[in-house]
Amino acid sequence: MTRLLDSFQRPVNYLRISVTDRCNLRCVYCMPPEGIPLLSHEEILSYEEISVVAQAAAELGIIKIRLTGGEPLARAGLTNLVAMLAQIRGIDDISLTTNAELLERNAEALKGAGLSRVNVSLDSLRGDRFHRITRVGNLDNVLQGIAAARHAGLGPVKTNTVVIRGTNDDEVLDFARLTIAGDWHVRFIEYMPFPNGDEKADNLLVPVSEIKQRIETLGRLEPTLGSGGGPAKYFRLPGAKGTIGFISPVSEHFCRACNRLRLTSDGKLRPCLFSDNEIDLRGPLRHGATTHDIKRLIREAASCKPEGHRLKAGISCERSMAQIGG
Ligand code: SAM
Ligand code: SF4
Repeated sequence: MTRLLDSFQRPVNYLRISVTDRCNLRCVYCMPPEGIPLLSHEEILSYEEISVVAQAAAELGIIKIRLTGGEPLARAGLTNLVAMLAQIRGIDDISLTTNAELLERNAEALKGAGLSRVNVSLDSLRGDRFHRITRVGNLDNVLQGIAAARHAGLGPVKTNTVVIRGTNDDEVLDFARLTIAGDWHVRFIEYMPFPNGDEKADNLLVPVSEIKQRIETLGRLEPTLGSGGGPAKYFRLPGAKGTIGFISPVSEHFCRACNRLRLTSDGKLRPCLFSDNEIDLRGPLRHGATTHDIKRLIREAASCKPEGHRLKAGISCERSMAQIGG
């Protein structure tokens, strides 16, 4: 099996694909109320073009794909893309990150097409607050989406909570308690100061160390075996059925184990979430590039991965999370 390595000898085996920059929500940390200037249909990679990239990536050693956005379920026919990706030899895990507003009606079909798992953004367990954070979202839809995903076999469903000081940090224990009785896998993410989010991001960050300290008032957090290979570190409260994960991009680097490339919806390969360095695939794809050419560009992107980011000094990138895909 081919192994794609970056210049620091880190294996690169994971591709995050943003299928759209559009979203049906307007989360305060991600999008301004009026939304962002959107790409036209022609600017976005077609599902066929995405498949060509995924095929080339798989030939180089990519084994995991995550579909993201914007809101991936806001793009028509996402199930067709999942089915196309599921046919590619070597891709053994296809997952989805979604706000779950549209998940209930899509869960069964996504599973049938070959999706393995979903991660769901869930920033509050209180309906009114959830609506305030997302500006338009409906908590019941999301909870029904999560239930449908579990029922369809898209588990374990992991939830992502961006902890925002003064907005939802008083719910950390409520989320943690969910994991005691039920099969909940909650993950807390540090607020990242991205363009289009709230400008006072520094005051809004709650470091993972503080979140952990609060949770340990419920019991000692025991590390769980196997991290899943991603940036999250997982723990369990005593006797708990579910797990608690922490993602600390700001307070603690996780770059040493970074194994991923990102494909934006307009066809740019992004070696690092926090750097605007991008390699264009759309142009070559539309001018007759062969799989061999695309593989060369993917190798080039892997070799451009920086050793680490300097997020503590502030984000310098121009694209918002909704444009990159998180
Ligand atoms: N719309 C989908 C969703 O919300 O799950 C997928 C795209 S969203 C950009 C991917 C992830 O990025 C979400 O879990 C979201 O919470 C996270 N995210 C967006 N902006 C963020 C920020 N400023 N800081 C931390 N996480 C952020
Ligand atoms: Fe949309 Fe996801 Fe950004 Fe919220 S975090 S605005 S759901 S893309």
